[in-house]
Amino acid sequence: MVIMTTASSHSFEPVLARIAEEIERTPGRGRPADYIPALAACDPRRFGMAVAELDGTVYGVGDWREPFSTQSITKVFTLALDLAREGDALWEHVGREPSGNPFNSLVQLEYENGIPRNPFINAGALVVTDRLQTRSSDASGELLAFLRAESGNPALDFDQDVAASESAHGDRNAALAHFMASYGNIDNPVPVLLDQYFRQCSVMASCADLALAIGFLARHGIRADGDRLLSQSQAKQVNAVMLTCGTYDAAGDFAYRVGLPGKSGVGGGIIAVVPGRCTLCVWSPGLDERGNSVAGVAALDRFTTLTGLSVF
Ligand code: GLN
Repeated sequence: MVIMTTASSHSFEPVLARIAEEIERTPGRGRPADYIPALAACDPRRFGMAVAELDGTVYGVGDWREPFSTQSITKVFTLALDLAREGDALWEHVGREPSGNPFNSLVQLEYENGIPRNPFINAGALVVTDRLQTRSSDASGELLAFLRAESGNPALDFDQDVAASESAHGDRNAALAHFMASYGNIDNPVPVLLDQYFRQCSVMASCADLALAIGFLARHGIRADGDRLLSQSQAKQVNAVMLTCGTYDAAGDFAYRVGLPGKSGVGGGIIAVVPGRCTLCVWSPGLDERGNSVAGVAALDRFTTLTGLSVF
């Protein structure tokens, strides 16, 4: 029998260098999100990737220390923070099925009585942030403190211009929030919730920061300082929802290509988790038509193919 060795016993640097070189040679990067000027101005040729081991050792390539707009990646963290506080009661207010619809879609909400399909489409994330707001009275502040602690980077912050721009172009998110409020599925005044949500989306962080910050999902719920945030079972649940719902209506294709729980954002970042082994974050601002980074998905696809590290 041939025993296969993978990158798991080595530094990840050679595999990252190889992926960066392949990405560099690949034409076609998609288009940056253009619904707000701050994102539209990003250069689609930028590319960075980081891998963090469970002990906090982090490897990277390209623009891996460059802060970018985290956007929907933050939905994983607010979900974890709210689950840690309220447990299963959350699932009475948001489902955990793939939506098969774009991340900002309104159509399913009416058929399903104001209960969003999952926490990673905008409607579901608004419900989660609303519930975290009720419990913490500063949902985005709690998120930022958590990201700073887990990444070890106290300089992480909101981008006030992005938050203001989100707000100025926020009609669809406002519509989602008001619609759910009409079903009694939002506790806080909608303007308060939207302010929290737009601040949440505006957090700037690098691939290194995010690969470290998501480490608790690879450590089965344990934070960087050894404290437990989630039970082992809850960490499994969050990973499962990421796998099935983390890349919007492309989650099936992402699972097929990458084989890892992952969450994307329209800033061009994607985080991914190899439970028990390591975490990844990749950033490249050019998106496909479903809102996922073209080079980001390609890089993760190559990573799991080259290393054999996937959940399957
Ligand atoms: N701020 C964006 C929005 O709410 C986040 C969407 C995303 O990253 N998919 O529309």
